Amino acid sequence: MLSELPKVDRVVAAPELALALRRLGPKAVTALVRSAIARARARVKDGHEAPTFEALVTEVRSAAERRERARLTRVVNATGVVLHTNLGRAPLPAAAQDRVGEISKGYCTLELDAETGVRTRRGLGAELTFSELVSAEDTLFVNNNAAGVLLALSSIAAGKEVIVSRGELVEIGGGFRIPEVLARSGARLVEVGTTNRTRVDDYQRAIGEHTACLLRVHPSNFKISGFTERPNLSALAAVAHDAKLPLIKDLGGGLVVELGDAISGSDLAREPSVQACLGAGADLVCVSLDKLFGGPQAGAIAGRGKLVERLRADPLARALRIDKLAIAAIEGVLDCYVRGQTSEIPVHALLATPVTALEERVKGWQAALGEHGPPTEVLRTEGAIGGGTLAEAPVSSVALSIRVADPDALAARLRSATPPVIGRVGDGALLLDARSVFPDEDALLVAALVRALEPSQKA
Ligand SMILES: *Cc1c(COP(=O)(O)O)cnc(C)c1O
Repeated sequence: MLSELPKVDRVVAAPELALALRRLGPKAVTALVRSAIARARARVKDGHEAPTFEALVTEVRSAAERRERARLTRVVNATGVVLHTNLGRAPLPAAAQDRVGEISKGYCTLELDAETGVRTRRGLGAELTFSELVSAEDTLFVNNNAAGVLLALSSIAAGKEVIVSRGELVEIGGGFRIPEVLARSGARLVEVGTTNRTRVDDYQRAIGEHTACLLRVHPSNFKISGFTERPNLSALAAVAHDAKLPLIKDLGGGLVVELGDAISGSDLAREPSVQACLGAGADLVCVSLDKLFGGPQAGAIAGRGKLVERLRADPLARALRIDKLAIAAIEGVLDCYVRGQTSEIPVHALLATPVTALEERVKGWQAALGEHGPPTEVLRTEGAIGGGTLAEAPVSSVALSIRVADPDALAARLRSATPPVIGRVGDGALLLDARSVFPDEDALLVAALVRALEPSQKA
């Protein structure tokens, strides 16, 4: 029976695989055919029948389709999580898309002063604007915030001690754990206080001749409540400065500028901004630029000129340096801030949409389904912003709840729509949450839903 298995070339040449060949190239398709034949051979050896030629081709075609789905695809995010790490965190404003398009088309002045012909620093223009925005003496951009924290600790504290509260030894998700990052930086962790309470004198007692700095970490994605205490940032800065030590603040996904009431109905307005942390006395503030800043994946380290310059000169900075497309995107986002057009930053626009407006839209989704579909309900929900950001700031939203026998199967059908629509399953229903859906995606969402609910689509 083994001899009945077709030759690799014959399968590759099957007309049904022509499209896959064009899209993935002969190398990938040949590899998929080889492994399908190898699987068939193993089955035959186990006593099963050899698959037909058609069955083999079909198997390869589904494998090719799976391969294609591994490419980046635009999706409709109906999870309600605005900063969804798996879905790419912050969508970029038009100004940033334009900058990326323009700069990526050809060569650019990445490290050149066009007027003098002299070499300059990459990111200089954006770093100056960012520093002005947050009232910092200087700023350094790196690949992401994890890189920023690693670089800051490594430059300032390698071989020395860093004092951190036990309540802040957190894991942010995706493997960013404060004790492990600290270990990697070559610094020694000195834990003070307890999980729920840390006081000024805990820090004071831990300071010694080997201390390099104090580190304050934004707990981001978790919250300790009840019998808790920790010094505010300015009290901590005073402790550090009395001992002539710098205070590093890992702000994580925090705000860059105060947004006031712009982001309504949530505790976001009470989130400290980079500017507020610097004002309170932090010497370096590390922040993610693809969280509430609303930009591309990048990290900013803002603060005292001398410290930032030291980080910039560190050989590790070269390994963590930011790419020109990210700089172009940051410039576009900064333009929105500088012009006071923060509502054009998608993350801010999504978070600022009033619940009543979301409710109207979800009622529209419901109406578009008509009376023939399964039972649906317009539900008020409360979600998190996501992206390892701001556990304490719940975001109220509105979702369409669709009650079907198998909500997981419906969710899967929506994920295989074009474009995929990503919802969530809760309480035995599929929930499509409007908080993270752009208004111009409503029609796509409804069309995908109608199709996914068609009787022929049901398993
Ligand atoms: C998100 C976050 C990080 C990691 O930032 P990335 O940009 O994802 O690398 C680190 N620290 C805190 C406090 C965070 O919230």
